[in-house]
Amino acid sequence: MLKREELLRMFETAGAIRHGHFELSSGLHSSTYVQCALVLQYPRFAERLGQALADLFSDLTVEAVVSPALGGLIIGQEVARALPEPKKSIEGGVPALFVERDASGMMTLRRGLSLGPDQHVLVVEDVWTTGGSTQEAIRVVEEAGARVVAAGALIDRSGGSIEFDVEAQSLIQLPIASYEPEDCPLCRDGSAALKPGSRFVRSAA
Ligand SMILES: [Zn+2]
Repeated sequence: MLKREELLRMFETAGAIRHGHFELSSGLHSSTYVQCALVLQYPRFAERLGQALADLFSDLTVEAVVSPALGGLIIGQEVARALPEPKKSIEGGVPALFVERDASGMMTLRRGLSLGPDQHVLVVEDVWTTGGSTQEAIRVVEEAGARVVAAGALIDRSGGSIEFDVEAQSLIQLPIASYEPEDCPLCRDGSAALKPGSRFVRSAA
């Protein structure tokens, strides 16, 4: 089992967790920036993180992983890869399915992906902020007649405020400390907030 420091080092090496002074997409300021796509773009990191997250659920029987697209796709795949082969199997391993929004904006299983009655499902996402996407994925799984046995995420930013109706585990707890710009202590110290997502965007000529 990887230690918290080893996990954090992977995120920080990839620039997926940064410390400084940032303007988040919400307009709020924060001293931490998190973007899991930056660590999951490296397959060796994604594989190790998937293994570490899967290890948290080693006491459960999991027959499928379901993730909300897009953020959950890569980590869902890697968690599924790390889980033991299920009994009823076509030797492809634990299937990693995903839910995505349909034309009306509802999360749903598409592309012929389906779950069996009472199939034991682990719902996996990259980051929990409010946990809304995981809640939606849980609903889709239950409406399909399968059973959610647990939910997992790489990073929980909620500060422990999320309550799922199933067992929930995250690898890293990293509560968001964010401020209105006018109340930001970092601004008061004189630094300027960086917009991390727009770093490489060219200005219009
Ligand atoms: Zn600020």
